[in-house]
Amino acid sequence: MAANASLTVEHLKRYFPVTVRRGLKTTKAVVKAVDDVSFAVGTGETLALVGESGCGKTTTAKLILALDRPTSGVIRLGDLDVQSVRGEDYRRYREQVQAVFQDPWSSLNPRMRVREIVSEPLVVNRRRPARETRARVAEVLDAVGLDPSHGDRFPHEFSGGQRQRIALASALASDPKLIILDEPVSSLDVSIRAQTMNLFRDLQGQLGVSYLLIVHDLAVARYMSDQVAVMYLGKIVEHASTEALFSEPLHPYTRALFAAALPSHPDIEREEIVLEGEVPSPIDPPSGCPFHPRCPLKIGAICETVVPQLLVGQGAGHPVACHLYPPEAGEGDSAEA
Ligand code: SF4
Repeated sequence: MAANASLTVEHLKRYFPVTVRRGLKTTKAVVKAVDDVSFAVGTGETLALVGESGCGKTTTAKLILALDRPTSGVIRLGDLDVQSVRGEDYRRYREQVQAVFQDPWSSLNPRMRVREIVSEPLVVNRRRPARETRARVAEVLDAVGLDPSHGDRFPHEFSGGQRQRIALASALASDPKLIILDEPVSSLDVSIRAQTMNLFRDLQGQLGVSYLLIVHDLAVARYMSDQVAVMYLGKIVEHASTEALFSEPLHPYTRALFAAALPSHPDIEREEIVLEGEVPSPIDPPSGCPFHPRCPLKIGAICETVVPQLLVGQGAGHPVACHLYPPEAGEGDSAEA
């Protein structure tokens, strides 16, 4: 855990009760969308959550944004615990956690002027003098490289990259501690992705804001983040500094993601490790290691019967949940599925 953690997440769980129909029979089941997830993001740091669709990244983000309530676990931002904040503390929490979403076409209200969009987090959470709000809007528009005099325009009058800047200005307006960046450049043209990522990084350097980056593009995770957590079926299966993960990915799932990604240069050799099949249904997850039906490096019955724990095992330099890296003697007893 980061010593100066801005965001701390401990043993976070979000289970959804569901009813499953098979023919004429119905049974109750539980979908473990987020299952015992822990991480910390330091002040001015970026943590990337990566994984395929349905792995639990977005549910985790919703819990941190207080858009949903966890089944159990802790989410702490500075001195505020999201489970127990009420009244003024709740308003403070909502101000301090903001988000920028993937698609600036749909995330910005087309009927609102830019200055109304950017000022929304200020006026929703507390009353301020109009002059103070106007000055803050002009300040953040300028910070993201937009002309403050364009505040009277509507979103459709801007390009995709400029609209993402408007979304970032709105997120920054309340001077947050944490911004959740949900696939922030994936809908942008390749030509403006780099400058948008540089803008995020530059503002982080100036303001000390922390980012939780939800992303499937490993190149974006590498460029933007300080640490990476790889999620599969609601659990973190590998967690390391960005440098360590990209120099030596350990979990077969992480290695398969790397093998499937385009190399940055055609001469770079890649590991031949093919990810087959779909992510299993979270209603009926596999026993033992949840990745075992797709794992090309499966080592036998232990993979099908024993849940691997996320720990620094033998031969690993960082936490990984895989029986290829068994715990040191006396450490991390594994649980039966
Ligand atoms: Fe593959 Fe076994 Fe490791 Fe799971 S525990 S990732 S099945 S080797």
